This record gives sequence, C-alpha cells and structure tokens, in this order.
Amino acid sequence: MTETRDRLVQWLRDAHAMEEQAHTMLKGQLKRVEHYPELEARVRDHIEETRGQSETVAQCLEQLGESPSGMKDTGSKLLALGQSISGVFADDEVMNWALASHAFENLEVASYTVLVATAEAAGEEGIAEACRGILKQEEAMASWVKDNLRPLTVKYLTRDSADLPASR
Ligand code: MG
Ligand code: FE
Repeated sequence: MTETRDRLVQWLRDAHAMEEQAHTMLKGQLKRVEHYPELEARVRDHIEETRGQSETVAQCLEQLGESPSGMKDTGSKLLALGQSISGVFADDEVMNWALASHAFENLEVASYTVLVATAEAAGEEGIAEACRGILKQEEAMASWVKDNLRPLTVKYLTRDSADLPASR
C-alpha cells in the first residue's frame, strides 16, 4: 500500500524531471525552426514558461518537505521518445519538430491532469491549484501546436517544392 501523499511526491518528481527534459528539448528545437519565425517565437515563449513550471513544481515539493530528485526514469523515457522521433539530420526536420512537440505537450497535459487529481485526493489544494495553472499553459501550447500543423505543412511543402530552404 502506498499513501496518496507519497504518490503525489513521486509524480511531482517525475514532472520536475519532465520539465528539465522539456527545457533541453525546446532549446534544441530552436535550431530546427529557423525559417519558421512564428514557431521560433512560440518556442521561445514556452522556454520561459517551462522555466517557471520547473520552479513551481520544485516549490510544491518543498511545501511537502521534499525536494526534486535527480534525473529520473520519466526523464530518460522522454529523452528516448524525443530522440526516436527527432530525425535530427532529416530533410524534413521542422515536420519532425511538429510531431515531437505535439506528442510531448500532450504528454505534459496528461501528467498535470493526473497531478491535479492526485493533489486533490491528498487534500493539497495549494498544490492542485499550482498544477492547474501549469496544466493551462500546457493545454495552450498543445493546441497551438495542433492548430499549426496544417499551416506548417502547407508552408513546408510550398518552400520545399519552390527549392527554398525548408528543412528547418
Ligand atoms: Mg512543461
Ligand atoms: Fe510544455
């Protein structure tokens, strides 16, 4: 048997590792969108948001008298996921960026949905509220990526068939 509070601590630590991984991925992604300024701007904004999320999750752990652990399983699994769909040397890098981002942001949405429910079950309303705030940012980023898949695809295909630099 595991206490709900212990699950909350465990999953907050996983979320912290996920945000650290997100930060690394987003910074790498900046190099893969150079001919797509609207993507670059949104990625830059989300890097800032991700920094704040990481701090907020660390504060939630501190409130519980705990601290973030080092890089954990979730982080390494996500790293593997990111690498497996990253296609760094492909001639359609920006499209790989789109697929990887859509997957990652939705994984974050799922993680914070679980954390909100867990914090509520543990009677930690302050932590639930903090996680709701992060969830909103992840949902906004996930829908932004989703909404941009069609226009991005069209722009990529147009540039590619006009022999303009299109890959990133
Ligand atoms: Mg995040
Ligand atoms: Fe995110």
